Amino acid sequence: MVRQVLPVADQNTMKDCLICERIGLIKENKNPYFVAELETGYVVLGDFQFYRGYSLFLYRNHVTELSLLEKETKQKFLEEMSNVAEAVYQCWQPRKMNYELLGNGYPHLHWHLVPRHKSDSEPRRTIWTIDRSIREAEGTRPNRTKLLKMKEKLYQHLKSVTSITSSYDPRYNL
Ligand SMILES: [Zn+2]
Repeated sequence: MVRQVLPVADQNTMKDCLICERIGLIKENKNPYFVAELETGYVVLGDFQFYRGYSLFLYRNHVTELSLLEKETKQKFLEEMSNVAEAVYQCWQPRKMNYELLGNGYPHLHWHLVPRHKSDSEPRRTIWTIDRSIREAEGTRPNRTKLLKMKEKLYQHLKSVTSITSSYDPRYNL
């Protein structure tokens, strides 16, 4: 259960929230990045894979702060985030994992789970200091075949570390 969200002057609403939009696409089987639904949210791969294995865990509702979640829900959300990160780690065996909950652009609880590989040119810095034109270069967007392979791989690891409510349907790999 979620407590009432207090209004904040500059807070985005569900109406212009990219995360809500993407969750809507998952529900319509139209989100090609969707991997699995857990109890508290959705696991998706990042649109761009400059950091190989970059995944996100989206809270199921439009909630802006962890403190607005009931204790039990918050604990479950954090536990599931940790499980997703573990699966990502097992999948891609990075040198280090980054776990980030920011929400400055879209204030809807969503974790960025970023594998930092041995080849990382800036291992001591956050990924956001790398220019967006590099992180989100078109060449880093996986094609359909690559995306499906990545989803299958992550799904197999997720199954071994957490309970899955539902998962992607390969028929809807757009
Ligand atoms: Zn939202």
